Amino acid sequence: MDSIVNLKKPKQVKNAFDLVVENAFDFFQKALEEFDKEPKYSVIHFHAAIELIMKARLLWEHWTLIITRPESATLKNFRLGDFQSVCIRDAKVRLESIVQEGLSKAEYDCFLRLSDHRNRMVHFYHPGSIGNKSELEKIVVEQCLAWYHVSRIFERWNEQFQGYKKKIVKIDKVMHKHREYLKAKFLALGEDIKNRKSRGILFSVCPACGFKSFEEASINELILYYECLVCKARETGLKVDCPKCGVENKLLGEPYRNCDKCGHKFDENDVQTFLTKDFVYDKHDPDRSIVAHCHECNGYETVVNVNDTWICSQCFETYDSEDVGRCDWCGSLSTGDLGDSLFEGCAACDGKFGSDSFKNE
Ligand SMILES: [Zn+2]
Ligand SMILES: [Zn+2]
Ligand SMILES: [Zn+2]
Ligand SMILES: [Zn+2]
Repeated sequence: MDSIVNLKKPKQVKNAFDLVVENAFDFFQKALEEFDKEPKYSVIHFHAAIELIMKARLLWEHWTLIITRPESATLKNFRLGDFQSVCIRDAKVRLESIVQEGLSKAEYDCFLRLSDHRNRMVHFYHPGSIGNKSELEKIVVEQCLAWYHVSRIFERWNEQFQGYKKKIVKIDKVMHKHREYLKAKFLALGEDIKNRKSRGILFSVCPACGFKSFEEASINELILYYECLVCKARETGLKVDCPKCGVENKLLGEPYRNCDKCGHKFDENDVQTFLTKDFVYDKHDPDRSIVAHCHECNGYETVVNVNDTWICSQCFETYDSEDVGRCDWCGSLSTGDLGDSLFEGCAACDGKFGSDSFKNE
């Protein structure tokens, strides 16, 4: 029983983690090298790389988590590699519910699209495999987006992946060259972008594909919405004043960024403090609240109401008022499905089923 509660990882598990990550980077490298001549293998290998990164993170938590049926896992078979391992769908669920380091909706959707293309390649056929130019563009778009998302994930999972910074930078460089395939698409949009600019629309450099095609729109005076005309990357942004120097910064997709002027390192608390600065607590209406828990990132009171749009100061997911409700068990506001919250709980509690009194019944 000891090995299960022992937080110190058995040496062979640490070794397995490193081997899986090395393998993932090898697949990234191969996928990018072979794109010109063998786009089909590029799709398959890129997908394999992403899947391996997810598995590595599960493996770090506990070796049984990468096995489809953990209840039948034995360390002997694990060492021999004799087991069926999880796919991206299973990995998502386990990362969320067990590791508590879930993927965002945008990340998961992006990886699922890669899975879908990969499956069509392997089990049927795919137009991209015969070198159709627009299909090739679509593949590059997907790979740029997936790399953008996985780079963010590496930052979040810094503890696990800090030893791989050099490799990440190396793949990042190759990805920059890879974006060249989208140049024709960007040039074709030139006139359109020019027209939109003349109407006052702002464009910035897209963090996924690197072209100046990231169109900015505002939902209200603080929340921004971005979409890339080339690669369709989307992000939510927030205009937040720096707590040190007062200069307004546009934060993209996440709070972690250095202030344009003084270099202050923003975090979710700065964002939340800024968004709630005008809130006045009303003792006649103690139930009124402008903070809720976020079910997307498991954030505790991270979702803030900004002029009828709710936005999470940690993951920047936005919600309408009807997406936010009161948990029937703990009484706090939360996003997510609260239909069974009396028993199942919300983003911040485990409901009646998880309570000590229920367990002791
Ligand atoms: Zn883009
Ligand atoms: Zn500043
Ligand atoms: Zn969130
Ligand atoms: Zn609750």
